[in-house]
Amino acid sequence: MKTVIISTLLTFVIFFSCKKEPEAPRPSKRQIIDLTHEFSEETVYWVTAKEFEMDVVAEGHTDHGYYYAANNFTTAEHGGTHIDAPIHFAANKQYVNEIPLEKLIGSAIKVDVSELALENPDYLIRIEDFTNWEKKNGMQIPDGSIVLLETGFSKYYPDKKKYLGTDKRGPEAVKLLHFPGLSPEAAKWLVENRNINSIGLDTPSIDYGQSNFFKAHVILLSENIPAFENLTNLDKLPSKGFDVVALPMKIKGGSGAPLRIVAFVND
Ligand SMILES: [Zn+2]
Repeated sequence: MKTVIISTLLTFVIFFSCKKEPEAPRPSKRQIIDLTHEFSEETVYWVTAKEFEMDVVAEGHTDHGYYYAANNFTTAEHGGTHIDAPIHFAANKQYVNEIPLEKLIGSAIKVDVSELALENPDYLIRIEDFTNWEKKNGMQIPDGSIVLLETGFSKYYPDKKKYLGTDKRGPEAVKLLHFPGLSPEAAKWLVENRNINSIGLDTPSIDYGQSNFFKAHVILLSENIPAFENLTNLDKLPSKGFDVVALPMKIKGGSGAPLRIVAFVND
């Protein structure tokens, strides 16, 4: 009997000592920075767009002994961290499922305009902001870059009054929108003088809040340059020398989609 007890104990000891601790993420020379806001009831949407909703389908232990959780969610294409596909503002251009991965994955630069933009919610990013970046970094914006624009507005997210300029919703709220964006002149300069793959920023739209004609959208998307909107953590990025992976949900015929976007920064 004693031997049975001892051997049983021994089995337990061996069993538990063999049981692996959950593996910690491996240390990497590259830091991974999430540029994505979470999707929830708080997610900021365009004032006329349907907001994020999640319905719980199941959550709990089943009669068969296992735990099971599943939900349904609904969302507009253009809300929270998302991509604008070229078709969003340009006829006969790419749908979100047609954007080549080369446009979405690659080396990136960051242009920081937060000092000026945080002082003026109607700030329009100028050609000069790009030429200043080039002077400071001693190079032209490299061909094929993913260009990220830091306005600093992500610090207001998800406070709609501060981030959008209004917490009202519906068509009447559109004229109350105040947040920075890219000037049409700078968008034109970028497509005519530089060769960028895609562009993104930490506000709800690549055009500023007071825009009526969405010219920066039209200029960029007409050249098949997708735009990433409602980004975050841009303050954690250097001005150059990092990579971005931006993978939207592959919606067939989508004009945009929720986006998971991360940056890889060398330590
Ligand atoms: Zn959009």
